[in-house]
Amino acid sequence: MEAAFLLRENWDADQHHDSLCELVSKDVLVYAALRWLQHRPTREIVQRGAVEDVERLVAALGVERAREATLGIVLFRALRVGRCVALEYDGFWTRALARGLASNHFAKSFGLADPIRAFLSGLFADIGKIFIAESNPLRYDELIYDRDTTQASDLRAREREWFGVDRDTVAWIVMRDLGFSRETFVSMLVDSRQQRSAGQPPVGHDPMEYEVQRMARLIGSIICADKFERTQLWGDFVRLRSLHDMNRDGLNTLCDGIVNDWWDWGDLLVVPTRNLPGFSELCDWNERGIEPVRYNPMGTAGLLPKPQGDRLHVLLVDDDRVILEATRRRLERAGHHVVTATDGQEALAILRQDPPQVVLADWRMPKMDGLELCRNLRRTELGRRTFFILFTGEEKEEEIVKAYEDGINDFINKQSPQPILLARVRAARTFLAQWDQVDQDRRIIRAHCEQSRKQASRMKTDSLTDALTGLPNRRYAMERLREEWARAERSSECLSVVMLDIDNFKLVNDQYGHDIGDLVLMETAAILRTSTRRNEAACRIGGEEFLIICSGADLGSAVQCAERVRKAIEANLVEAKDFKQNVTVSLGVAQRSPLVDGLDGLLKAADEAIYGAKDGGRNQVVVWPAMERVVFDEEERRAG
Ligand code: GH3
Ligand code: MG
Ligand code: MG
Repeated sequence: MEAAFLLRENWDADQHHDSLCELVSKDVLVYAALRWLQHRPTREIVQRGAVEDVERLVAALGVERAREATLGIVLFRALRVGRCVALEYDGFWTRALARGLASNHFAKSFGLADPIRAFLSGLFADIGKIFIAESNPLRYDELIYDRDTTQASDLRAREREWFGVDRDTVAWIVMRDLGFSRETFVSMLVDSRQQRSAGQPPVGHDPMEYEVQRMARLIGSIICADKFERTQLWGDFVRLRSLHDMNRDGLNTLCDGIVNDWWDWGDLLVVPTRNLPGFSELCDWNERGIEPVRYNPMGTAGLLPKPQGDRLHVLLVDDDRVILEATRRRLERAGHHVVTATDGQEALAILRQDPPQVVLADWRMPKMDGLELCRNLRRTELGRRTFFILFTGEEKEEEIVKAYEDGINDFINKQSPQPILLARVRAARTFLAQWDQVDQDRRIIRAHCEQSRKQASRMKTDSLTDALTGLPNRRYAMERLREEWARAERSSECLSVVMLDIDNFKLVNDQYGHDIGDLVLMETAAILRTSTRRNEAACRIGGEEFLIICSGADLGSAVQCAERVRKAIEANLVEAKDFKQNVTVSLGVAQRSPLVDGLDGLLKAADEAIYGAKDGGRNQVVVWPAMERVVFDEEERRAG
């Protein structure tokens, strides 16, 4: 389902409430994520994807927060795999996830008002890196390969050097433009602020929120670190613990909870996680400085598999009710979830409704025997992923060999002792894990295809788009204007333009630096985008000059448009680092008429009008003087 209605420029809570509910109910991932955020559900709900009560869920979260969380999941999915070869997306997202969850847990534990937004802040804290990388993947690859050290802060500095922007500035602008709330993206900026102010919360920033993000960053790093990095981080961990006067066991339990959720969310979002011992063990080891080698995730040889729930979903089929019940009890005692049927036909009906992971079926049964059941099962996509074990009695060797050709995975004699039965059922897990891997690969490949498709269509628009602001560029403006001019000539409809130029922009650059200058340009573009209407195309045609092409608009409507834009820009407080000002613009308006000499004449007229506005003291709208007289003459003539 199309998620564009979630974006800031489109969103209207009343109008889109139903679309939001529909999206949540159709998208299992979004649903599961929202359920978790509202009230952590059991693993089963997430895995089985039973969707219920979406309206209540959205109401419980609050519609704005539900929208933001949904947007977050959609954004995550869009950026899960990107176009850089050298950037490790798996590593990036697993760390982001750990940080987001840590942020959520700490927000709850510190009693902050909004743990859900805390989750989003943590998850997207470093998203600027991905935005920059995606804006020019080839160059970003070069930047990574070119680097001779591996310090993260070094990477940030190089990004600024190579791309001329700061990661956090980009994140800030994009997240805000997409429609994340201020609470979310403001507390994302802990990293750069921490660097600047050496651990002190910036002025005007809730110190508790800041602490939560700081701790989340540390715990996320500890969870994802190898043991050597972890040793280095441990000092910070101990310091934070005493700073907040936290009880050692309490904090360990909280961190274990974060790791558990990290595993669950990793499964849910198909982001790799890895085994980690409990935090109390980590504490002991780090205090004694001897973390065992087997937990070093860099050496995969000693890596333990991630603990899995032992529970399998088994369908047991036998016409002998005594055996059926006895086997069921054995399996259930071993922790499995068991459903039973007494013949092949009944089993097939259950298989369609409630597909199990393992089928254990007797060979000889009335109506449909075990082998036929297996053949039927293997005809479907889902059936091929089911581990099939056949119970045998007196069957001959050749018969059993033939049964493998029909698709069974294993057989077991009915007389086998219990440990053998349980071991064979457990063996199904390897088979099932392979299918999970296949699914994961497919998903990633699909995501890649989707990316390439988007890239192809983006390349077409790139040549007509301004890279800094995302607005249509000068080339687009000229092409569009030519078309509109020709159309106006044919139909004798009106055509007007508004040209605008930022006031005293050079001062911004000179006093605050080019970065902030760029930010002001981006903000101004964002306001232009939201304050113009359908027939008004806003373009960036020069450094700090913009053009709005008003198709079908006479001078009066164009002046209204100009005034609307002027007010919106004036009202917007631009805040970035030390900069905190309301920017203003001077606007010139002109209309196509016999007085202007073609297209160039029209642009020149608007430009001349801007001069008038600057002369008149800036922050105002001026109509091209020659045109004003025409309007005046018209009015006088009409008045008689
Ligand atoms: P006025 O009110 O008269 O328009 O004053 P001004 O300072 O805005 O006018 P001027 O045209 O002298 O200054 C425009 C400045 O815009 C000069 C140039 O360095 C800067 N500029 C042009 N393109 C960019 C850009 O992409 N980024 C940044 N940061 N600055 C730019
Ligand atoms: Mg200028
Ligand atoms: Mg200017």
